Amino acid sequence: MNRVIVVGGGLAGLRAVEALRAQGYEGSLTLLSAERHRAYDRPPLSKAVLMGERDDTTVDADWDALNADLLFGERATGLRLSAGGGGTVESTAGDLPFDGLVIASGATPIRLPGDGPQHVVRTIEDSRTLRDRLVEGTRVAIVGAGWIGAEVATTAAKKGCRVTVVEAADTPLAIALGPEIGAHTAPWYAEAGVELRYGVKVASVDVGGLTLADGGRIDADEVVVGIGVRPEVGWLAGSGLDVERGVVTDASLRASVAGQTRPDVVAVGDCAAWWSDRYGRRLLVEHWDTALNAPETAVSALLGGEAVYDAVPYFWSEQFGRMVQYVGYHPAAQRFFYRGDPRDARWAGCWLADDRLVALISVGRPRDLVQARKIIADGVAVDAEALADPDVPLREA
Ligand code: FAD
Repeated sequence: MNRVIVVGGGLAGLRAVEALRAQGYEGSLTLLSAERHRAYDRPPLSKAVLMGERDDTTVDADWDALNADLLFGERATGLRLSAGGGGTVESTAGDLPFDGLVIASGATPIRLPGDGPQHVVRTIEDSRTLRDRLVEGTRVAIVGAGWIGAEVATTAAKKGCRVTVVEAADTPLAIALGPEIGAHTAPWYAEAGVELRYGVKVASVDVGGLTLADGGRIDADEVVVGIGVRPEVGWLAGSGLDVERGVVTDASLRASVAGQTRPDVVAVGDCAAWWSDRYGRRLLVEHWDTALNAPETAVSALLGGEAVYDAVPYFWSEQFGRMVQYVGYHPAAQRFFYRGDPRDARWAGCWLADDRLVALISVGRPRDLVQARKIIADGVAVDAEALADPDVPLREA
């Protein structure tokens, strides 16, 4: 392999470039990225950057040593695959032939219909623009009580804004965690002085606020939309690559055409729907840890190895003064119970399938998170009664 192109210069793209060089790839390497910046971390964009505590989140990298052609501010627009392997990335910088391709084009926020201005928080520019608008007394309407909505609400309230969060489901985080657990986070909004209106559907964002599906209105000076993201895979249309919600990959993160593996094309990060042997299903995990760690496996596969990405998904969120962390994957769980009282400041929740811990949510109990991560990864049997006792360290359960 002599000509590798990485499309997307976010965390996953940078990690792919680093992994290629670390794993001994010496051929030509091109990084094509629509943004004009070197890779930066997105998690602080809805936290410290929005709060005005940080302005730059660039990820440290030894770019000289990586010896890559950097095409920033350039976008892949199409992909032509050759039958025998390799192909051409069509881009705003021209046609770029390759014999190995890493797809790391991430995801884009979903927006609402309407003519009114709406903020999303995906890029450093989005965050800086919104930061400057969040001043004391501003009426801020946030659509979506998910991870991003809760974090933006936290910051806006801290800055003295008058914040209303509108959620279509009956609780915050209903899709991510289920309504029962989500309901335990609802009082956090009230404590922070944020009005939470749930079961409310927004029809459109209009000048001066939101129009609701029932004809009602919420007036606001600033509207922030945090209703999820879509994998950025439009540029792959017509290429023949299998794309469902994201780029379909096998357990080694290799893409396919009509079900046939393409060992010369891998996908990583927010745009990849990878096969998890551990869970026996395809996962699309739009979180930092996956963007950080999956590229090492993908690059190994691209260079001819047989590594498998078998991670236990992990993410965190900082909201209303609490550190919320989740590890595992709970849809296949049969039982759920609390470890501590969810009305307290610190508690955890455990999902079990038979006698195995399959997922854990921790609020202010980081040690539980670390121990659960290992227990879940090892797949060892646990004692549910001990697990439910918050005074028993998880590793002894
Ligand atoms: P991206 O970071 O989206 O990078 C993809 C890059 O590819 C972008 O620069 C994009 O412009 C470029 N691109 C797209 N299309 C093309 C194209 N056609 N041609 C060329 N380039 C293209 N995760 C957590 O676990 N915890 C958190 O607390 C957390 N907080 C977050 C807060 C915010 C505000 C956001 C936005 C995300 C947060 N995340 C968090 C998620 C985490 O940041 C993402 O999962 C991670 O950034 C994904 O990295 P990526 O490289 O796959 O994609």
